[in-house]
Amino acid sequence: MTRKSCIVLPDDYKGYDVDYFCVPHHYEDSLDSILIPSGLIQDRIEQLARDIAVELGKEPFAVLCVLKGGYKFLADLLEKIKQYYRFSSENSVPFSVYFIRLQNYEDNHSTGKVKVMRVDGLSFLQNKNVLVVEDIVDTGKTMQVLLEILEKKQPKSIKVASLLVKRTSSSSGFQPDYVGFEIPDRFIVGYALDYNEYFRDLNHVCVISEHGKQKYSN
Ligand code: 5GP
Repeated sequence: MTRKSCIVLPDDYKGYDVDYFCVPHHYEDSLDSILIPSGLIQDRIEQLARDIAVELGKEPFAVLCVLKGGYKFLADLLEKIKQYYRFSSENSVPFSVYFIRLQNYEDNHSTGKVKVMRVDGLSFLQNKNVLVVEDIVDTGKTMQVLLEILEKKQPKSIKVASLLVKRTSSSSGFQPDYVGFEIPDRFIVGYALDYNEYFRDLNHVCVISEHGKQKYSN
């Protein structure tokens, strides 16, 4: 499938002033702007859930969540797929959920090496339709490494859903099947995306400030 269109935030998009929305007090001084408020994230995920449920159709599927950043997107996406199933008399199938942990970022830069820390074994993949759920695709390297690993387990099909895709000149060309938002090349935090494990407890997708980077550096 070629990627469906998504919401594109242009390079000159500044987002919203932090004062317009509620953020935890401890992060107020560490953010430049709110790029995507949590309400908009939820509304967009509702449509992604519908697209996925319609396209996956009548066959059961396995969801593979990429930790740690993918956990909020996974939870909200699955909740909305379940909601869709509750109100659809024709389209409703069971799904199972698995987790894998990958790491390639330190502070705000890619280490260039993708570390795979398995949480669940991958033998469940054989002959399954698999939906991989990821928080953000930046260069696309992480997803390419993961897909190579998954293909070896001979799944029936693999689709990738990523809440965010970064527009970057260092892209490998990898494109997920389902994308919430295409964003400019900035380091973002919130909605389970972290900076040295901080900011996962922030509901909006935000641009971290220089002060924030210093305050929470390792
Ligand atoms: P890629 O391999 O596509 O370059 O990087 C993907 C991974 O890098 C994501 O799963 C995420 O963990 C991390 N990453 C990339 N860009 C950002 C960002 O702007 N903020 C955060 N917090 N993590 C990012």
